[in-house]
Amino acid sequence: MLSDSDRIFTNLYGLGDRSLAGARARGQWADTKALLARGRDKIIEEVKASGLRGRGGAGFSTGLKWSFMPKEVDPKRPHYLVINADESEPGTCKDREIMRNDPHTLVEGALVASFAMGAHACYIYVRGEFIAERIALQKAVDEAYEANLIGKNNVHGYPFDLYVHHGAGAYICGEETALIESLEGKKGMPRLKPPFPANVGLYGCPTTVNNVESIAVVPTILRRSASWFAGIGKPNNTGTKLFSISGHVNKPCNVEEAMSISFRELIDAHCGGVRGGWDNLLAVIPGGSSVRCVPAHQIIDCPMDFDSLVKLGSGLGTAAVIVMDKSTDIIRAIARLSYFYKHESCGQCTPCREGTGWMYRVVQRMVEGRAHKKEIDMLFDVSKQIEGHTICALGDAAAWPIQGLITHYREVIEQRIDQYTANPHPEPVREAAE
Ligand code: SF4
Repeated sequence: MLSDSDRIFTNLYGLGDRSLAGARARGQWADTKALLARGRDKIIEEVKASGLRGRGGAGFSTGLKWSFMPKEVDPKRPHYLVINADESEPGTCKDREIMRNDPHTLVEGALVASFAMGAHACYIYVRGEFIAERIALQKAVDEAYEANLIGKNNVHGYPFDLYVHHGAGAYICGEETALIESLEGKKGMPRLKPPFPANVGLYGCPTTVNNVESIAVVPTILRRSASWFAGIGKPNNTGTKLFSISGHVNKPCNVEEAMSISFRELIDAHCGGVRGGWDNLLAVIPGGSSVRCVPAHQIIDCPMDFDSLVKLGSGLGTAAVIVMDKSTDIIRAIARLSYFYKHESCGQCTPCREGTGWMYRVVQRMVEGRAHKKEIDMLFDVSKQIEGHTICALGDAAAWPIQGLITHYREVIEQRIDQYTANPHPEPVREAAE
């Protein structure tokens, strides 16, 4: 378990002073100039050495991503850092706590990361529904400007502007290129890659898009050393991580924990256990709604990290842990997620536009049992045709929950079909979308 002295977000619950004075008292902005004095290359090397992997879901090495930015800054093509605060993945609610309660971790991180990539401007793209978060974050940005910590002639000697941009509430704008399109004032639709944003990003210029948590942890990593961060968790799965735990636990919460903590320890230590006890656990979606669910017996002692969950056919994703006990109608739960992805598809590519709706309609019939057993394999096949055949990862995100359902709970679907066949006029079931 993570000791209190190793926590990066020391005001995650907003119990302390959220202002600049409070942030300074917690050690933020203390020696930022000295951090920048290490130089761009050294900072990127440190972040690489820490093993920090992107906290937005993909888990790609943050330092490596930064190193893809051009070394020299062409005056006609300025570099940009864009921070993805669109946090729309169902179950995920960690970045909002950073913005509400510990916003200076993000503001300081934005300066340090932008410096490392040669960017003099950074945009933070905030989810449309996050009103309180945007206000709190803007307040922190204003404070930083007033204290001359950022701005054209700031005390750090590195001209830097930070803009908070409020989105309009579309899930797809959490995809980095759709986010860039939206920032440019266009419809939030993902771009074909390549070119990648590090070459052609915001306004056609080199851009890195990073998650809020990935940026907010950087100043502390630099202060406390890469080896400190790398010493938490397991090799290749290092550091601290914010987990958002929801569903059928006694005390749902957000908590910063050591990467690779076991699922059982995470739930017992911070959530008061599973509702009704461990024998009542049915399944867990461990990384936000887009990863495959994992049955209870597989996840209970699994380390909560990128590599261990991939081995179970799932993923750590955003570390939004959705716990389902045996009272859950697992088919209906997945049908509800299926409806979400159908609704949020931007419609550019056929497998996603048509496939998400098709999958939803079939799985919704399965909720009632109004389906043929041969449709189970057909549904799985169609999900495989969507996965990996679309412009962005929303296609995968729609396919994986369905695949998890069929892989682990085929017999539940078959039983439901048998029940309906025996009694074809069951009580009407509400549409998942209602
Ligand atoms: Fe749009 Fe879906 Fe294609 Fe992504 S996969 S670009 S959301 S249609």
